[in-house]
Amino acid sequence: MENRIYSVDSAKAAKAVQYGYLNAIQYKAPANIAGVGNLCPKASAACLAACLGWYSGHASMVKSDQDRNSVRQSRIDKARRFMTDRKAYLWDVCRATALAYRKAKKAKLKLAGRLNGSTDIAYEGIAIELNEKQAGILSKLCARKIKPGKYKNIFELFAFVQWIDYTKNAARLYRALPSNYCLTLSYSGTNKADCLKALGAGHNVAVVFGDGLPSHWNGFPVIDGDSHDLRHLDPRGVVVGLSPKGKKAKADKESGFVVWSKAAPSLALAA
Ligand code: SF4
Repeated sequence: MENRIYSVDSAKAAKAVQYGYLNAIQYKAPANIAGVGNLCPKASAACLAACLGWYSGHASMVKSDQDRNSVRQSRIDKARRFMTDRKAYLWDVCRATALAYRKAKKAKLKLAGRLNGSTDIAYEGIAIELNEKQAGILSKLCARKIKPGKYKNIFELFAFVQWIDYTKNAARLYRALPSNYCLTLSYSGTNKADCLKALGAGHNVAVVFGDGLPSHWNGFPVIDGDSHDLRHLDPRGVVVGLSPKGKKAKADKESGFVVWSKAAPSLALAA
């Protein structure tokens, strides 16, 4: 654990090193699990029921679904702080980003930040304001001049960092996103029309395949998305194939969120 904001040592984050990146991922309690509002506005019942942010890795090491271990509690605390004490929380995210950037630089790596490890928050619309003292702290940590004042979003503030995320909110793809923010649409089991439209427009779509990667999904080539999480390195207009993470996703043969070859939709794209 890098600090309370980012995780840099998950299995997937660790794979980024061989590609020259430190991958820092922020996990918060998904959807409305923290009881402070829905942080995944386009989640399907199926994706929530199998969400890796709650049902895989350390977060899943509980006796029953209702239990909370320290990882789950930390994700709940972060979601609550984001919703109820946003200014202070965002400052913690900025400071954690600067710390991760310094760590990456020391290791001769670039930083790839992922704010929505287990949420779907439109950070492109959240402004950040820095006072003199805060700008000084970030400048020192990053060893570059960061001015005080208002920034459109964290991506503008940390323009020298590569940012990546998955989203189930297709509308976000079509906004004027910062050039250092790469968004991949994610198949939820209920947003197929959005996914096909996005693929047709040259965006990428992540799909969870239960029994290995097919060569194509609905006419679009499938690439292996598990070799790293650096989605900005992917070619455009492809399906990013992922394996199910966690017991629930691996057992999900019914909901449609996980695509199995026998049940895989064979809808061909209209010629
Ligand atoms: S939208 Fe993503 S993060 Fe949110 S519940 Fe679904 S799978 Fe989890």
